[in-house]
Amino acid sequence: MKICISIVEKTLEEAVASSKRAAEKSPELIEVRFDHITPLPDDLTGFKEIQVPKIATLRSVSQGGHFSGSDREKAALFRKATKAGFGVLDIESDSPLLTHASRDFRGADTICSHHNLHLTPETAEIVEILVSNASKGNVTKAAFKVNSVHDIRSIVEAAMVFSSTENDFILLGMGALGEMTRIHAKRMKCAFTYASLEPGKEAAPGQIDFDTLRRLGDEPVITGITGFPLDHSISPQMHNSAFVQMGIPGRYLSLPARDEEMEDLLELATELNMRGFNVTIPHKENIIPLLDDLDEIASRTKAVNTVINRNGEFIGTNTDVFGVARTFESAGVQVKGRRVLVVGAGGAARACISHLSTNGARISLVNRTRLRADVLANDFQGVQVVDRGEAEKMPFDIVVNCTPLGMKGFPDELPISPQVFRPGQFVFDTIYNPGITRFLSEAQGRGATVQSGIEMLVHQAIKAFEAWTGKSPPYDVMAEAARSAMG
Ligand code: NAP
Repeated sequence: MKICISIVEKTLEEAVASSKRAAEKSPELIEVRFDHITPLPDDLTGFKEIQVPKIATLRSVSQGGHFSGSDREKAALFRKATKAGFGVLDIESDSPLLTHASRDFRGADTICSHHNLHLTPETAEIVEILVSNASKGNVTKAAFKVNSVHDIRSIVEAAMVFSSTENDFILLGMGALGEMTRIHAKRMKCAFTYASLEPGKEAAPGQIDFDTLRRLGDEPVITGITGFPLDHSISPQMHNSAFVQMGIPGRYLSLPARDEEMEDLLELATELNMRGFNVTIPHKENIIPLLDDLDEIASRTKAVNTVINRNGEFIGTNTDVFGVARTFESAGVQVKGRRVLVVGAGGAARACISHLSTNGARISLVNRTRLRADVLANDFQGVQVVDRGEAEKMPFDIVVNCTPLGMKGFPDELPISPQVFRPGQFVFDTIYNPGITRFLSEAQGRGATVQSGIEMLVHQAIKAFEAWTGKSPPYDVMAEAARSAMG
């Protein structure tokens, strides 16, 4: 993949110094964003000795840059740039300078660019923009703010359609969700993509640093997570740390998607050859009809937290069940014949009960919505639905919280009365942030042994990583990344 490093510096001296540092990394191109330098520089001869092909850009405020001057000032800067060896000029599609650019600017090549900082139009409109601008410059460029998985799909589709015209083009999505379009620039047949010199020096939102893009190469291993909303997820930090530590050219992306976008996501996963993705609230159950098959664990659990792309077929599995098993195992707790109270009846409860039921536990289930608990109990052996009042009087060896109550961002309330806790019990909260919830501290205060959801989180992630890559990430790398992501 061809990469252009964008230089964004406030002074001419810094821009020249950063361009020299960028050239040492051997990118295919360097772009200097002159609109970041105020006042506009006069003497550009410092750039002459930089041998990498250079693009001069003076991005207008309306297109997401800082330049608010006249066309005359723009033309003057471009003339100086071409004298200093800039062979390519980025000129916005509505600029009159495009008309005689070759004559006015010493035969420099032009990129005719268009930016929408707010939204991504539908595929047909993107193609129209590219077609209409293709005749105005040597390369046509369009960049759109990506707000959804559907937007990413529109961009990828437009690239596939426009690439048949044989015109050189650059098409990308701005913002964190646009990352996919930058990583896959080559697959999308773009002439090149942009990178920052280093993290923190981005010229546009969502730009990836050069070293990361080079590490990912042309055939990156792409995985990720979907759910809605996804702000709380620390899975990207865990998986991306493992990719880096293990030297795998991979990236785990955050792909927030609403119900109606799940099909877009599967299409995108096919088009961009994603290895698979994790699934979280609210899609663990509703994704099932969209998949080609479920493995034995997902069929039993009737919830999917991991999708694997096996040669274009999407297979659902549930690595949360493995995370639960490892949690009990590492605490040295046997579940066979033990009396267990599970609080909650969503995806996490299904994973817990799937493990407990297969291993002979005697399970009582309490949930805010009785009907949901009844449906869950029907799917497993040996699960008795009880109400809160009953549960509080019963003796349990193990108590598990599978509700979000107590999680960061949720009410700090107990999902069940502390009367259920007693000495010698094993109390497990599936919540991992905070590490010690009120549920766990109340249990600890009454003599129980407690365990947070961090073990479950790390082990479900390890199992998913293995399913996608065939390689096992070190536990410590993922656990450390999870802890530092939680601060
Ligand atoms: P879910 O499918 O949305 O289910 C949430 C459950 O909590 C439902 O039974 C719901 O009851 C109950 N609930 C929600 N708000 C409640 C409230 N205010 N009062 C009483 N009950 C309430 O979610 P999930 O996927 O099972 O996740 C639940 C929690 O498990 C998450 O918050 C997360 O911390 C944890 N989890 C941890 C891991 C891990 O790896 N450690 C993995 C997955 C999940 P209703 O049926 O009445 O709505």
